Amino acid sequence: MEPQNVQNYLLKECQSVEQVRQTKSDESTDVRSKSVKPKVLKDGDYSDPVYKKLSRINGEINRMNKDEIKHKLADLKLDTRGVKDILKKRLKNYYKRKKLAIAKVQPDKRTKYDYLAFIDFEATCEENNINYQHEIIEFPIVLLDVQQNKIVDQFHEYVHPTKKPRLSHFCTTLTGIQQETVDKADPFPVVMDKVTKWMKKFKLGEGKKFAVVTDGPWDMQRFLFPQCQLSGVIFPKWAKRWINLRKIYSNFYECRRCGISGMLENLGMSFKGNPHCGLDDATNIALIAQHMLEDGCVFQYNEFLIIKPQPVGSEPQTEVENKKPEDTGTDSDEGQEFGGGDVCHESKGPELGTLDAELASSMNVLHLNSQDSSVENVSDLLEYYKLQSS
Ligand code: AMP
Ligand code: MG
Repeated sequence: MEPQNVQNYLLKECQSVEQVRQTKSDESTDVRSKSVKPKVLKDGDYSDPVYKKLSRINGEINRMNKDEIKHKLADLKLDTRGVKDILKKRLKNYYKRKKLAIAKVQPDKRTKYDYLAFIDFEATCEENNINYQHEIIEFPIVLLDVQQNKIVDQFHEYVHPTKKPRLSHFCTTLTGIQQETVDKADPFPVVMDKVTKWMKKFKLGEGKKFAVVTDGPWDMQRFLFPQCQLSGVIFPKWAKRWINLRKIYSNFYECRRCGISGMLENLGMSFKGNPHCGLDDATNIALIAQHMLEDGCVFQYNEFLIIKPQPVGSEPQTEVENKKPEDTGTDSDEGQEFGGGDVCHESKGPELGTLDAELASSMNVLHLNSQDSSVENVSDLLEYYKLQSS
């Protein structure tokens, strides 16, 4: 089809910008209206004829060049920032929403959490030291209300490191966190108590479903789990699984995996604040997620931790495994908690059901499991830093 015909085709699909805007604002009430019950289609069920129509529209959009897509988005008064892949997805999603609303079809697949909690730890570090045992020094959580797609609160505390209380010059320069700041901060167990209290305020995990979102797989694996072991704190069940933003982002927009600045750049935005400041990192990943929700991305857990026994006396290792995660659609189900490295229970792993005390105390191998096979291998720390800042 010629570009002009494509435009005409899409124009006909929309009839007028006014109608389109109306449809968008109506869609939630439309599908939930008491008089017209929406047809809820199970994930993977594309039997409704509307999907044929959508597939045709998607084909047309695939044939449009960047300028044509941009013009169309501008006509529809939608965000025109970003690279072609992003714009394409935005336009497709626009038609998807509109057509499904008109056809009174409600896909079963949607973000099923009330809140997304964005976490980005900063930790003690030294330059080029692969054996460094990190301690968390900044603990930020940015909370996003999914229904409103709005940041509604944040938790922010610095943490006093106990094993190596003096920050290296490299660490202060990298994170911008000053020695005096961590000197007067609470130690990790106290901060964790504060986190729990803050979560209760929003009923997170107690009536309200939420999922942790991080930039990459490292925050829970490299920082939170070892810190819990070090401090003798129970590894919280909410940290057992999470959404790796850079993975869900590249899958959704069908683009290459990249770090926070790259994801923002693709969206036509730039980093707000200072990179490696935990709160700024967490806020920026929340901003990226807001755009993804707006563009129709369904947020779902895509990584989780399991802990497997390791022979007594061997070095703690971190391994990457690819495995289909358990169903993680809700946080109200009973997940188990891990002790600070000493008492770990993993009901799904048969070998862990019969652990004796000695074996239990040696459970220090983390397996990072992922839905897709292209998970980052984080066994090499230098490689990890490189990936993290890529
Ligand atoms: P980020 O989320 O990228 O700010 O990094 C989190 C933590 O990883 C930092 O607070 C440091 O402890 C560690 N880190 C990041 N990059 C490096 C690096 N190049 N060298 C050593 N440690 C690093
Ligand atoms: Mg950071």
